[in-house]
Amino acid sequence: MAERHTRYGWWLEEAGLPEARRPLDGTVDADVVIVGGGYTGMWTAWFVTELEPDARVVVLEAEVCGTGPSGRNGGFVNSLWIGLARIRERFGAAAALDVARASEAAVDGVGHWCREQGVDAWYRRGGYLQVSTTPAHDHSPLAAVQAAASLGVQKTCIAQTPSEVRERCCSPLFRGGAYYPAAATVQPARLALGLRERLIEQGVQVFEGSHARRLRSHAGGVEIETHGGRVRANAAVLAAGGRLAAHPSLRRRLTVTSSHMVITEPVPDILEKIGWTGGECITDSRAMVQYFRTTPDGRIAFGWGGGRIVAGARINGRAEVDGRVAAEVERRLARVFPAVRGRRIDHAWGGPIDVSPSHLPVIGSLTGDHVHYAFGYTGNGVGPSRLVGRTLASMALERPDEYTRLALVEPPPVRVPPEPFRYAGGAIIRAALLRRERLEEEGRRPDPLTRFVAGVPERIGVHIGR
Ligand SMILES: Cc1cc2nc3c(=O)[nH]c(=O)nc-3n(C[C@H](O)[C@H](O)[C@H](O)COP(=O)(O)OP(=O)(O)OC[C@H]3O[C@@H](n4cnc5c(N)ncnc54)[C@H](O)[C@@H]3O)c2cc1C
Repeated sequence: MAERHTRYGWWLEEAGLPEARRPLDGTVDADVVIVGGGYTGMWTAWFVTELEPDARVVVLEAEVCGTGPSGRNGGFVNSLWIGLARIRERFGAAAALDVARASEAAVDGVGHWCREQGVDAWYRRGGYLQVSTTPAHDHSPLAAVQAAASLGVQKTCIAQTPSEVRERCCSPLFRGGAYYPAAATVQPARLALGLRERLIEQGVQVFEGSHARRLRSHAGGVEIETHGGRVRANAAVLAAGGRLAAHPSLRRRLTVTSSHMVITEPVPDILEKIGWTGGECITDSRAMVQYFRTTPDGRIAFGWGGGRIVAGARINGRAEVDGRVAAEVERRLARVFPAVRGRRIDHAWGGPIDVSPSHLPVIGSLTGDHVHYAFGYTGNGVGPSRLVGRTLASMALERPDEYTRLALVEPPPVRVPPEPFRYAGGAIIRAALLRRERLEEEGRRPDPLTRFVAGVPERIGVHIGR
């Protein structure tokens, strides 16, 4: 069992939780008000001030900026090259290439920003490796390689033979895979808290403990109320992560699941032995993805995307602390890396994941409003949130540009079933996916009922898996 299992987790403790800023009190006027101080909200604030240095920017954060998923994730800074086939299917080849290239620039942009701003977020550009762990998944990395080759961007996704995979990282489960050079890792909480600090230095007004509870819009702008006050602004950006599933206009556009992680004590001897010294972040190819990376002091941080479904937008509770799921993550870690058995697991934690049916972030505006939003990273938000924040900044300032023209902006909506069917159906499908993946890993063919239920999401247009 992990030594500790908390809501915030190891990264935020390592980074050091800052003292909360004072809550909003009274009326404040702004050009742009941002609801939510995760990466999306904070990058938006950053880019608004960069585009318009005199703009008055307010961030309203219910807790402390960066203590949601943005400070607790796996720290994979990935591009959208990993979803190229899906993006092409949805938007066409040219639009897919524009999106993927812009997302690669965001991966580099995070590193550049950290260097320029003197934020030591442990940024390391070691690339991303997708491996297959069972014959049933061998097609997945290969399909990604083929998609990249067919669009003439073969350098973005490179096939890896089993021995090439083993050279990067040796696990008894690994088979072949695909390597994406445009990826990095960060200490996610250091990045989030670094952003928070730089925003405050730039003069952005950050109010914490300030839950936005009412939004009114009118011809001239918007008004947002918290318990203690209100902000009147020309434009608002809703960057509240999974909580957007509570918004009446968006609740049929996303679901919320959860993911848990554990982190080992430093095990540099094991990393040396299995040859995992290149800093690659790695996932397998299952729908309920397992993801893992190393830290500069030689730990393994290991997560599993198979946490429970969340009812509506109720993201606290078992999405964040769930002993059974955390114990399952530990078992999975030991299966992938048997050498860690008997080593200490220092910490376990979890958080909600905002899932869009397309598995792509969605950026948009509420009709006839000065209100813009983004959600749906589906577990890949660390890199893309910089691109999304840049886009939202242009939208909030009403400056159409190459970002606002990306296909991620106002895509044709895909709807998810309403509650309570979403929660109940999601739980049944989750169980079928888990069963399918267990059988596949045991080399057995899943029974027809399991295959049928696990296939329901794809049949109703909801993407599952990588
Ligand atoms: C365990 C885990 C592992 C993950 N691993 C990875 C990974 O390795 N790589 C990757 O790319 N992504 C990963 N993700 C996903 C990634 O963390 C998210 O995509 C990203 O953090 C989303 O940022 P955000 O700003 O949109 O949302 P959040 O980080 O959820 O921020 C939203 C903020 O809004 C605030 N808020 C909500 N409602 C209100 C309100 N009404 N008023 C005021 N404030 C409000 C919340 O308190 C929160 O701080 C992981 C997520 C989890 C949980």
